Amino acid sequence: MSDVAGKPCILCCAITGSLPRKLDNPAVPISVTEQIESSHAAVEAGASIIHAHVRNADETPSSDPDKFAALQEGLKKHCPGVIIQFSTGGRSGAGQERGGMLPLGPDMASLSVGSNNFPSRVYENPPDLVAWLASQMKQHAITPEVEAFDLSHILQALAMHERGDLYGKLYVQFVMGVKNAMPADKEIFDFYAQLMQARAPDAQWCAAGIGANQIIVNEWAIAAGGHTRTGLEDNIRSDKTTLAPSNAALIARAADLCAKYDRPVATPSQARAMLGLRSA
Ligand code: MG
Repeated sequence: MSDVAGKPCILCCAITGSLPRKLDNPAVPISVTEQIESSHAAVEAGASIIHAHVRNADETPSSDPDKFAALQEGLKKHCPGVIIQFSTGGRSGAGQERGGMLPLGPDMASLSVGSNNFPSRVYENPPDLVAWLASQMKQHAITPEVEAFDLSHILQALAMHERGDLYGKLYVQFVMGVKNAMPADKEIFDFYAQLMQARAPDAQWCAAGIGANQIIVNEWAIAAGGHTRTGLEDNIRSDKTTLAPSNAALIARAADLCAKYDRPVATPSQARAMLGLRSA
């Protein structure tokens, strides 16, 4: 038994994202109805957080607050208690448009706190926009999940948390394996985890790997006592030659890893308690 055995592990399912299309994998949920069905199956498989983007009918990314509202309503009805996390990421809108859904008051929202390169562009998160998104989250009592694409983003999250700029308990996600950003590197991962433990021992952290790195980073995080994210947003394959059949299947393989390390899969109410969220 390792020292993380027995600690519940929060599984987040990033169901849709901005990039994958039906042509890439027909299981990617696009319409709000498909998103709710896919989320429901993922929750049955062990997901306690649903991380969501919304799409237009032609599958292009959208930041339409009405679509987010419809998704929120459906998730509350069909996945009661699940933690709803909306993306304020930069592929679906520009500037303050990215936070247009925050007045809906989801439990959580993703928050990028610095800029970096993405596969074919700069992922721009200028300081004034970061401050505005964080202040909107405070105003609407939304706990941010800080997306750390780089070491500097973790340090920025710690500084913002210390200044009281972030609502609620600190929650940081290490994102590894985005082309042109931080690779999935085990030594760096270990350093990230140690840094969080040293600087913010009361905080929780999670990790996500992109593409084939997904299952690798899932295992690192579960073994190290963190939480982890999976889902079709980050990876559309089960292995090199097989498409993942569903979001639920990706959650199921992360749940299998939890069993390997004696980590119970957190229920939504356990996850809410660990993250300091209000009960549903
Ligand atoms: Mg996202």
